[in-house]
Amino acid sequence: MEIPYRHTEKIKINQHIKDPDTRRIDGFRVAVVVVPDAPRKPHWERLAYADILKTRFQRRKRQDKHAEQLLTDLPNATGTRIILQAVKPDTSTFELLSSARKIAVELRTQDPAAVLLHIAGFDQPTASRLTEVLSAAILAAVCPMPSYKSDTDKPAALKRIEVYGLEQPADLAQVQAESIGNHLSRWLSALPANELTPTVYREFVGKLAAEEGWKMDFLNTRALARRKAGAFLAVAQASPVDDAGIVHLRYRPAVRGGKRLALVGKGICFDTGGVNVKPARYMNGMHEDMQGSAVALGTLLALTRLGLEHPVDCWLALAQNHIGSKAYKPNDVVTACNGTSIEVIHTDAEGRMVLADTLALACKEKPQLVIDYATLTGACIYSLSSRYSGVFSNRDTLHATLTTAGRDSGERVWPFPLDKDFDEDLKSNIADTRQCTLEGEADHILAARFLNRFVDSEINWVHVDLAASNRKGGLGHIPTDTTGFGVRYTLNLLLQQDALEQSWS
Ligand SMILES: [Zn+2]
Repeated sequence: MEIPYRHTEKIKINQHIKDPDTRRIDGFRVAVVVVPDAPRKPHWERLAYADILKTRFQRRKRQDKHAEQLLTDLPNATGTRIILQAVKPDTSTFELLSSARKIAVELRTQDPAAVLLHIAGFDQPTASRLTEVLSAAILAAVCPMPSYKSDTDKPAALKRIEVYGLEQPADLAQVQAESIGNHLSRWLSALPANELTPTVYREFVGKLAAEEGWKMDFLNTRALARRKAGAFLAVAQASPVDDAGIVHLRYRPAVRGGKRLALVGKGICFDTGGVNVKPARYMNGMHEDMQGSAVALGTLLALTRLGLEHPVDCWLALAQNHIGSKAYKPNDVVTACNGTSIEVIHTDAEGRMVLADTLALACKEKPQLVIDYATLTGACIYSLSSRYSGVFSNRDTLHATLTTAGRDSGERVWPFPLDKDFDEDLKSNIADTRQCTLEGEADHILAARFLNRFVDSEINWVHVDLAASNRKGGLGHIPTDTTGFGVRYTLNLLLQQDALEQSWS
């Protein structure tokens, strides 16, 4: 399977200190001009074709005083399409990303080979932030996505982004790494389930591991049986092909040392719900039930590109949740590899079953921090909508850092409680714990409490319930329904909030 995940790597971003003159603008079919809200004389004076833009923007403002964007074509030989965006000083990262998405979608319809960005009239930190946000959105918009149409769209022509008007160049390494990781996550998640089987997925990861220099192990069902991973195997046992298993990837930095990070992802390539089969409405889209694993993998790829100084282990729980005579059933009792016995209640709660053993295996390597990603519960979407994802941690003191990373990156998260007394709802007469309840009340919290049993209490743990994995029309800077939410968030958590360095006990 070929995945064009390196597509955006070929796009050059050049940054210039000076403002572009009219001759420069004339060379572009499309230019994006960003000015402060209510631009004043010194702001206009920096723009090429200032008089035309000022007149037309003011006319637009008279029509709609809330208008922040002007789309107009210059009367030059090229007929340059100008996208003029006014930005308020207190705009949140999420709002900036959302505006940038609309600009990038307009750009995509014009499909130029090169685009000029003029960031005029901001202080240096704001100008850097705008450059970062616009680059993120443009790179996200030009990524190809899987298509099986006989008249497939051509890939985007964009090869070059020229940024003008900066006092000093912005550091764009992180946004470029993020765009590759996010694209990989989205591409894998959008693949249909007859294409991306656990076998195909594992083979692709094997090729990627060879290219990226990761060591890879695959724990197939026999290896998992030896480790007594009964929770994972309960889900895997109905598959007509014996192809489920846990992928373990190891990234090691050039210099030894650092604090060990583990990324864990739920990779259910298709979720029928099992014996408690899903109705059509809820089964639709379940090829994306592997997005947690794709986000873990995309994050590992981005961290590798950035040459993270810490070792990273990445664990992907790959399986399908099938129906059939061999499928696990409600009231079955199985035992996970850490010795915890589980009474099965609902076979559609398969995500927490495969994650139970995967988290326990990940913790055996004693990482400093474990982050897991899963499209886990409908309850999390009911609580937050698909605008936010939910986060949980076995360290309450971490909530502020987790929320800040969401606000700062624009991939927003909100923390939920993880108090011990929630376990009362999971009490079983026959096993150490029930898998879930049938009532569904606060299922996202109960799922996190259930997973907590498989995490070593000495280890810092963050669980991300990916409510924002799919949103009609996209989210933030991402223009496709499949969002790949989590890659950008985690880079911010690790690199801007220094989550590995913090002591959270
Ligand atoms: Zn399910």
